[in-house]
Amino acid sequence: MAVQAVERADSAAASSGPAVASSGSTVASFGPAVALSCRECGERVPLGPVFACASCFGPLEVAYELPLGDPEGLRRRIESGPADIWRYAPLLPVPADVASRPNLRPGFTRLVRADNLARELGVTGELHVKDDSGNPTHSFKDRVVAVAVEAARAFGFTTLSCSSTGNLAGAVGAAAARAGLRSCVFIPHDLEAGKVVMAAVYGGDLVGIEGTYDDVNRFCSELIGDPLGEGWGFVNVNLRPYYGEGSKTLAYEICEQLGWRLPDQLVIPIASGSQLTKIDKGLKELIALGLVEDRPYRIFGAQAEGCSPVSRAFKDGQDVVRPVKPDTIAKSLAIGNPADGPYVLDIARRTGGAVEDVTDPEIVDAIRLLARTEGIFAETAGGVTVGVTRKLLEAGELDPSLTTVVLNTGDGLKTLDAVAAGPSATIRPSLDAFREAGLG
Ligand SMILES: *Cc1c(COP(=O)(O)O)cnc(C)c1O
Ligand SMILES: [Zn+2]
Repeated sequence: MAVQAVERADSAAASSGPAVASSGSTVASFGPAVALSCRECGERVPLGPVFACASCFGPLEVAYELPLGDPEGLRRRIESGPADIWRYAPLLPVPADVASRPNLRPGFTRLVRADNLARELGVTGELHVKDDSGNPTHSFKDRVVAVAVEAARAFGFTTLSCSSTGNLAGAVGAAAARAGLRSCVFIPHDLEAGKVVMAAVYGGDLVGIEGTYDDVNRFCSELIGDPLGEGWGFVNVNLRPYYGEGSKTLAYEICEQLGWRLPDQLVIPIASGSQLTKIDKGLKELIALGLVEDRPYRIFGAQAEGCSPVSRAFKDGQDVVRPVKPDTIAKSLAIGNPADGPYVLDIARRTGGAVEDVTDPEIVDAIRLLARTEGIFAETAGGVTVGVTRKLLEAGELDPSLTTVVLNTGDGLKTLDAVAAGPSATIRPSLDAFREAGLG
């Protein structure tokens, strides 16, 4: 089966036009990836800059011939690899020498054992925070962009682009700068100052669009179909199948950092839903590869109430996600029409998880709670996951006696305005003044 897939991808790639130089170099460029396959109908097409199935318009995803059969050897190879996502290159659509190319080398961020937070929340099992604020541009987006950049190179794109809720624009700007590519990224015009500066500082073009993220995304889809967008790789549109794979590294790292163990429960934020679906894909791969024990895990999705179309559908027992107009401080998650929403619903239901949402005040409380208990300053998306964790524990949906991993996907420095915090007192530089302030 897998061998046949390689042959099909090979022969088809040879005749798929100038973007793919030759079948041999394409296969080498994408490591263990052998084809793109349709999530809906399963049809396979050669690896290329395409994202929708020609037969049914379903989303395409990367299919692999994974290195099965020698789990011990694979584990040793991973453990002796670099301390970034490229230690997992044997499981990603990237060339084997990817670590030696100019890129930002994100990943292998810390997994924090959060005993103080656990005590506060009444968790008796292990509680961990996977803290992706430690990536080069301070969000999880560096993972997905790093993989997309390799695809952009392989397809000969010269401009790197994206539609972004903020963090992605910064990650693309930085990655393009390092890779020597031009960048031009698109954001809603009303983002947080921290994200606008981060998106602009790397020297590429940044365009604010008067509208929501969903308007930005629609605009980018039009640009791809226009001669204006020729030679442009949109990391989350025409390179989306490759981009998505970068999120698998979160699953790999969490399990490796737990000592090659699956967590029982994961709480993951949802914007488009890509990250959540690919973490599930990564966990399934680790099981198939024999790197972790084959046992159940439960996936929980987290949204802000002001943009909770997936949570709503989950609670209503629906299979379709009805789009909403976002209104929340969690701007990085403010996608009203999430592309992977239906797949998120499938995964939450299949694994025995749930999708839940929290209000803006609950998000702020949760940011403060995580900062106060563990010394981790999360952006609003981290407030969403911690807040949802608290809510699901109170509702009895998360089991407090099990091993739970909560994702913090971004840095609080990018969403400073969400948290009104300041000095306890401002005083003259004298002991008397300090005594009067009552803080001694
Ligand atoms: C983009 C983003 C996510 C998740 O995005 P998906 O589209 O669901 O993959 C989560 N957290 C932060 C901080 C983000 O920027
Ligand atoms: Zn299809």
